[in-house]
Amino acid sequence: MALSPEQMEVAKRYLDEKCPDRACPMCGSKSFDIGDGVGYLPSSLTTPGPVLPVLIMFCNGCGYVAHFIANKMGLPDITGDS
Ligand SMILES: [Zn+2]
Repeated sequence: MALSPEQMEVAKRYLDEKCPDRACPMCGSKSFDIGDGVGYLPSSLTTPGPVLPVLIMFCNGCGYVAHFIANKMGLPDITGDS
């Protein structure tokens, strides 16, 4: 699911507030891009169930990927029901 421009602004504000000095845990780079959509992770690896909507942030230095729970970021209208 692609983020609207308004949702992307909410996500950027969240990351700037919660992770102002973010640096990649693998290579130390401070250059990141935010994925333009929401992905879905299984909430359990052993039993079928609801999925977890996540926003992805990529390190431009090494390609490390970080996941952030969309609802926690202030994007409550994104669900894992789809
Ligand atoms: Zn990195």
